[in-house]
Amino acid sequence: MTRVREQSAAPELPWAPPAELTPEEIEEILAQADHAIQLACLVQLTGDDSLLATYGPGTTQEPNPTMRLMPRTAMPEVNARVVRSWLSKLLAGDATPQVELPLPDDATFRRAAELVVGQGVPQEFLPLLREQAGFEPPHPVRPITGPPPETLDVAIIGAGMAGINAAVQAQRRGYRYTVYERHHEVGGTWHEHNYPGVAVDTPSLYYSFSYELNPNWTHYYPAGEDYQAYLVKLVDDYGVREHIRFGTEMVSLRWSDGDQRWHITLRGEDGAVQETTAAVVVTAVGYLNAQSFPANLDREAFAGLQFHSQDWDPALDLTGKRVAIVGAGATSMQIVPRIVDQVSHLTVFQRQAHWVVPKFSGEKEVGAADRWALRHLPFYNQWSRLKIYWYLSDNLYPNVRADKEWMETHEFSINQGNERVRQLCLKHIYESFGHDPEMVAKMTPDHPPNSKRINKDPGGYYDALNRENALVVTSAVTEVVPEGIVTADGELHELDVIVWATGYTLKFLSQFEIRGRDGAALTDVWGDAPSAYLGVSVPGFPNLFITSGPHASTAHGGGQNFLFEASTQYIMECLQLMVDRGARTLEVDRAAHDAYNAGMEQVLAGSIWCNTGTAHTYYLNKQGRPILPSPWRMVDFWTKLRTPVEEHFVLDGAPARGGRR
Ligand SMILES: Cc1cc2nc3c(=O)[nH]c(=O)nc-3n(C[C@H](O)[C@H](O)[C@H](O)COP(=O)(O)OP(=O)(O)OC[C@H]3O[C@@H](n4cnc5c(N)ncnc54)[C@H](O)[C@@H]3O)c2cc1C
Repeated sequence: MTRVREQSAAPELPWAPPAELTPEEIEEILAQADHAIQLACLVQLTGDDSLLATYGPGTTQEPNPTMRLMPRTAMPEVNARVVRSWLSKLLAGDATPQVELPLPDDATFRRAAELVVGQGVPQEFLPLLREQAGFEPPHPVRPITGPPPETLDVAIIGAGMAGINAAVQAQRRGYRYTVYERHHEVGGTWHEHNYPGVAVDTPSLYYSFSYELNPNWTHYYPAGEDYQAYLVKLVDDYGVREHIRFGTEMVSLRWSDGDQRWHITLRGEDGAVQETTAAVVVTAVGYLNAQSFPANLDREAFAGLQFHSQDWDPALDLTGKRVAIVGAGATSMQIVPRIVDQVSHLTVFQRQAHWVVPKFSGEKEVGAADRWALRHLPFYNQWSRLKIYWYLSDNLYPNVRADKEWMETHEFSINQGNERVRQLCLKHIYESFGHDPEMVAKMTPDHPPNSKRINKDPGGYYDALNRENALVVTSAVTEVVPEGIVTADGELHELDVIVWATGYTLKFLSQFEIRGRDGAALTDVWGDAPSAYLGVSVPGFPNLFITSGPHASTAHGGGQNFLFEASTQYIMECLQLMVDRGARTLEVDRAAHDAYNAGMEQVLAGSIWCNTGTAHTYYLNKQGRPILPSPWRMVDFWTKLRTPVEEHFVLDGAPARGGRR
């Protein structure tokens, strides 16, 4: 038998598909994979839910060598051996999998989920887990009675993750749609960023679409290019590409009451302006792509090479150069370890220290057993995703809720869980810089964890800052001069290259002219305090849907993929409501918008984001008011976004059923 051996840090295991392996060889592989997940798979493959009671008892949760946040399950060895022996026989073809119970009923699903995560799973989570784990595709709540009318055509602006997902869902439901994308490739963030070390810092098993699980991730946290490859493949596999007009930038959107359509002004790469219209517009332009630079600096004064981290030229050779990285956020942390050994001197200009979660030693390549099982053991991918979702989502919610009593005696944490995160990060600081009190002081944040995005050490960030040729400067950048950067303490830092890793300005659509009913501009309506109903709809802007709106990004856990799936489900349901009622326009009722936001603000008030202390963060507007994070538990937000409450909308200018006007 020919064997292809997988390159992996984990012990070498046979990598061939099950049909080419003996049951003993499969058993050898499965011995290293998660036990409870194997049992859950066996239950599904056999349709025999009694196996949970037979083999589940005595299952324990143990530290996971490959992922800090998520324990690994271990069954009593005698049970584990029976399960993997059974599975290996099924997989090797000695018996045919029944697959009678591809999706267990709620009670069985819940018992299996509880075994897999090692915790109680309340009933309210089950529908979400079924979808988010990839067992069930996002499905309509309002029944689809037939194809939507041709006149209800959809324009999607942007072909990043959000736009791609909106396109897939619009296509599935039969809408005529066009995606307008200014670049020549899809991917957005993951297409635009090429800097050394660019990577996703949400686990690969989770940061993807639930309806398109990828069994082939090679790393627990994918490199940017691997993630981009996932998106490109998805677009091609789903036939979305032919609906995308590349090299086409949306310049403005104007609602016309005359024809009840959005009038879209587009600009091609030659600068030529074109007009088109659509009944419905979905904005998917992202909010982390308008480059930000420190104010009041004459950057052009610099005589050397300078660029924003988003504009990194992969051919750039920094060998022997004196390089500045201005900024100490996620991007800086990914770049620094990759270039420190190449440059002659590296200076990191840090405005404010971030909380940095250390990289866990095992969190590199996906182990050989998991890779095999993800690819070859039916349902292993879904149960693994369910488990990681569980540990990365509302399990972390308590960490962002303010405990006023706790805060009376703790300046830099808001509750006990939040303090635990702080202690974990402090340990990383002391272990890395304990020999250097000045560095400990520089790297220790003076605000609670989660006030701003917690960063993950990609591996080697703190180590890199300990190198002889690295320096962290905390004195403010006050001037750019031909030779380099001058800081507030009067020091000149001589440089050859300046990388502005200074992030993005949160735009929330303010870079475009978007005019709704009566010509009202969205920028005027929102001012500095954007608000939307469920983060998606704004009164006065009929048939306009936002995929990354205000107070919609889950900031205590999860990833943006969650928001895109949940908000797009909602958008599709709104369209179905229009189809059901034969309506040409759908607009959220102002009273419903206001009531929703009043409730949302109450929950927000008890969150970390109203208690950020000194943290500088794009989560807040200039007045210090949170505008980005969703204060809800993910399960609550997901549930709210299942389908619209009809009476919260105005259809064709008249109140919907049960509505107020
Ligand atoms: C370096 C980096 C790392 C990140 N890591 C993570 C992570 O680990 N986990 C996580 O959850 N999130 C992460 N994010 C956030 C990330 O941006 C989102 O997860 C997600 O990729 C955003 O998708 P999007 O489609 O909303 O926006 P984008 O990816 O920004 O895509 C928007 C698209 O719209 C196009 N567009 C914009 N304006 C126009 C216009 N006027 N006309 C036509 N097209 C237009 C753009 O060209 C782009 O293709 C990261 C962001 C950055 C910058």
